[in-house]
Amino acid sequence: MFSRDSTSPLVGRLAPSPTGVLHLGNARSFLLAWLSIRSRGGRMILRIEDIDGPRTKPGADQAAIEDLEWLGLDWDEGPLYQSTRLEIYEAAARELEESGLAFACVCSRKDVESAATAPQGSNQDGPVYPGTCRGLFRDREEARRITGREAALRFRITRETLPFHDLFRGPEPGRLAGDFVIMKRDRLPAYQLAVVVDDAAQGVTEVLRGDDLVPSTPRQLLLYEALGLSPPQFVHVPLMVGTDGRRLAKRHGDTSLAHFRRAGVKPEEILGYLAHSAGIIVERAPVTAEDLLDGFRLDALRAEPWTVGNDPFGPPQP
Ligand code: GLU
Repeated sequence: MFSRDSTSPLVGRLAPSPTGVLHLGNARSFLLAWLSIRSRGGRMILRIEDIDGPRTKPGADQAAIEDLEWLGLDWDEGPLYQSTRLEIYEAAARELEESGLAFACVCSRKDVESAATAPQGSNQDGPVYPGTCRGLFRDREEARRITGREAALRFRITRETLPFHDLFRGPEPGRLAGDFVIMKRDRLPAYQLAVVVDDAAQGVTEVLRGDDLVPSTPRQLLLYEALGLSPPQFVHVPLMVGTDGRRLAKRHGDTSLAHFRRAGVKPEEILGYLAHSAGIIVERAPVTAEDLLDGFRLDALRAEPWTVGNDPFGPPQP
C-alpha cells in the first residue's frame, strides 16, 4: 500500500465531463493525473463537470465513476457536481462584470462567424471574436433591455500572450486570441470560468490534463489573476490518437472502457497498455494502478502522442 500523507499540500483532481463514455485517451490522462499526485502522497478530488447543457448525458456521470473505480483510481473528496454550484459561478461572473473586466455580448455564434474576417484568424473555438459588443452595454441586463436578446459575458483581452511554464512541456507562449465567453447566453457558466472557480475553491495545486487544453490555460490564468486567486501548476500530457493521427474519437471505433470491459478485458491489461503507451513501463504487461506509483516521474513520460491500433486488446498482430 502506498503512503498517504494527510498533511501533504499536493491536491490533484479528476474532472470528467459526462458528455459521453470514458475512452482510452481520457483514461490515460486520468491515470497520469492520479499517479502524479498519489506517487507523492497528495490528495485527489473527483469533480463532475456537468454544466455543458445539452451535451451532458444522463447516467454518464455514474458510468465515469464506475470506470474510474474499475481501473483502481480513487479519490478523497467528491464527486462534486458543478451543476450544484451555479450561483457561485454567477457571483464570480458578476464580480468581473461589475469591475469592467468582462462585458455583455449579444452575438450569436453565427454573428461572430460572419463578423470575424481573416485578419483576426481563429482560435480553438473557431473564428476570433472581433470585439463587436465591447463598450456597447453597461451589463447583461441593459443589453437584454436594449436588444431583446439574452447576453453572454465575455472576458476582455488586452494582451496578445500570457506565457506560462508547463511542468511537462516547459515554457509555453500562451497565445490569447479574442475576448472569450465566461457566462453563456443560456446563463450557464462557460468551462473556463467554472474550472477556475472550482480548482481554486477546492485548493487544487496541480492540474494534469490532455494537451488539447493548452490553449485554454492562458485564459484560465487571466481569470485567476482577475479574481485574485492563486493558480495551480499546469501539466499537459500528449493525447492518444487514432491511426489517422487525429485525436481519439468515435470514428476510430469503440475505444471506450465499457466496450473492453464487456469484451472481458481486465483492468490490469488496460492499465498495462496505458502505462506502456505513456512510457511508464518498457514492456507491456498487466499492472495495477498502485504498481505504477513507485518511481513514477513526470519527466520520464513519452512526449509524443500514442497511436491506438485497430484492436489494441485483440490477438497480437503478425
Ligand atoms: N472536464 C474537462 C474534460 O473532460 C477537463 C477539464 C480540465 O481538466 O481542466 O475535457
